[in-house]
Amino acid sequence: MNITTKYEIGQTLWLVNRLSARVWKRCVDCDGTCSITLKSGKLSRCPTCAGSGDEGYVFDGMKYEWVVHGSLVVSGIDIKLSKLTKGIRQIEMYQTGGSGFDVSRLFPTEKEAKEWCAKVNAEDPNSDEAWFGEEKYV
Ligand SMILES: [Zn+2]
Repeated sequence: MNITTKYEIGQTLWLVNRLSARVWKRCVDCDGTCSITLKSGKLSRCPTCAGSGDEGYVFDGMKYEWVVHGSLVVSGIDIKLSKLTKGIRQIEMYQTGGSGFDVSRLFPTEKEAKEWCAKVNAEDPNSDEAWFGEEKYV
């Protein structure tokens, strides 16, 4: 069996990462005041956003963005081969300074890494397809 890898030991590669942020939107029931007026005229705490962690706002999900994290030099490559019905699946993990990165997170130039981030962010940065990358069969 001949095993070929996408990159080489000693090669400088560019790493991309997906950043996540919690997104809050202004509460529509109280317009962000966390106070509503009852029929009697009394003010009451908004039942929608009071106690939500940030009064006047409600949690609106996670926002993701892919960014170029920086460059690294490959110090080792872990290869895992698994026999599946589709064929032999090859997983490549690139090691550097004690950390391992999946081949789908790495690019040979900063330009290619930036272009990939821009493409995925324009399409759907939440996509699991981008997160897990392409599978390689050998
Ligand atoms: Zn509210």
